[in-house]
Amino acid sequence: MLKTIRKVTLLLLIVSFSAAALPSRVWGAETSRQRELKQLIQKTQTEIVNKKKKERSVMSNLFTHQQNLEQVKQNYRQVQTQLSQVQNQYELSKRQLAGLQQNVKQLEQDRDERQAQLNRRLVAMYKYGPQNYLRILLEARDFADLLSRFSMFAYIVRNDLSALDRLESAKAAVQKEQRRVETKTVQVAKEFQQVTTLKEQVSQKQQEIAAKVDSTKEELQKIQADRARLEKALAEYEATSRQIEEQIRRQQQRSTGGTLGSGKFIWPARGRISDIFGWRYHPILKTKRFHNGEDIAVPTGTPVHAADGGVVLVSGWQGGYGYFVAIDHGNGISTCYGHNSRLLVRVGQRVQQGDVIAYSGSTGLSTGPHIHFEVRVKGVPVDPRKYLP
Ligand SMILES: [Zn+2]
Repeated sequence: MLKTIRKVTLLLLIVSFSAAALPSRVWGAETSRQRELKQLIQKTQTEIVNKKKKERSVMSNLFTHQQNLEQVKQNYRQVQTQLSQVQNQYELSKRQLAGLQQNVKQLEQDRDERQAQLNRRLVAMYKYGPQNYLRILLEARDFADLLSRFSMFAYIVRNDLSALDRLESAKAAVQKEQRRVETKTVQVAKEFQQVTTLKEQVSQKQQEIAAKVDSTKEELQKIQADRARLEKALAEYEATSRQIEEQIRRQQQRSTGGTLGSGKFIWPARGRISDIFGWRYHPILKTKRFHNGEDIAVPTGTPVHAADGGVVLVSGWQGGYGYFVAIDHGNGISTCYGHNSRLLVRVGQRVQQGDVIAYSGSTGLSTGPHIHFEVRVKGVPVDPRKYLP
């Protein structure tokens, strides 16, 4: 994986070393200030990586909370619909009940009227007395008239009585219906109360989750601000580091080195090329960065071979590069190998082409096991493909 961040440091060191007769002496030229800065940069990079991890986890929390909120909002809408349905039912029941009450009242009025009518008739009959009543019948002109008068009275009274009966039973039926609707209204009122309580609960829950979403957003903003601060600090360290390395390079340019290798490179390992030399989007740093070399995807523990003979310039931890080896091949040319799990060579050691110098890994700023391989001319990274078979 590309460790652009470290590249300049390495570049300068490598240049200095390739130029120098004794690489160990050049290595020693690194100042304590330089080492301090390197440690600081490395520490900051680790912090940034941690912040990013934290950021991802908080973002995932935020996503979960937001999903929950959507769920609860949906529940709330459902309960609201339910509530308005129950409310409609309740209103309907109340209207029905009012209608039935009106009905009963009307029937009672009708009955009272009928009763009054009958009473008036009975009072009239009583007032005239049985004799008068009899006289009315006796005054009948003939038998047919008598029968007619008699049955008229009987008919009227019977009619009044049966009308009263009908009104009473109609009233009873309506009152029965009234009781049924009353019971139903009580049930609906109870349900209305329950759904209202449920709505309050869901509303409460919604508020809680919304608060959680807000606090998680705040947390995320804080982490992002922290990360921005660290990245700014890192850029400053890198700039200082580059300045110091420039100085070292100028000092080392006075000496010149001869050819140390064959001049024809071999691949440090065989594997899928997972990233090539050039500009690309950095998966960890989330920014566009220049990739200084070729990434060869190989399992951790794969032997890393020296691309050519030379002298080991750097062998050790190099921040984002992880466990790192740089070899000087003379004539200002050097090769670098990053993200190793284990190093097998020491600074100043002579190596032959094909020697196993390290075992591959995924140390430093890396997303998976691979060898990050660079070729540098006077410390500047160049396309390794131009040197490889
Ligand atoms: Zn790389």
